[in-house]
Amino acid sequence: MADCLFCAIVAGEAPAQIVDSDEHTVAFMDINPATAGHALVIPRRHSADLLEISDSDLEHTMVAARRLAAQPQPHGLVVRPFDPRAHVVDVCGPLQA
Ligand SMILES: [Zn+2]
Repeated sequence: MADCLFCAIVAGEAPAQIVDSDEHTVAFMDINPATAGHALVIPRRHSADLLEISDSDLEHTMVAARRLAAQPQPHGLVVRPFDPRAHVVDVCGPLQA
């Protein structure tokens, strides 16, 4: 979607500190973090909200969030599923820069 910041990040057209990605998802640090280490995990395909996302993209996003949370971190991560704003999953907790 042309006016979506998250889609611009996925396309590499907007800057982001990407911490994980795969064929279906991208994870990056939130520019306005709610906690230290607040990251967002989003599907590469645009979804306006949780009700619009496909089952497949939702599954891939949750699997990616779990993969990110399972990565060795000095302080651990807390997965906070279902960001009510637009995209799907927040992963909170300190991450190494
Ligand atoms: Zn989008």
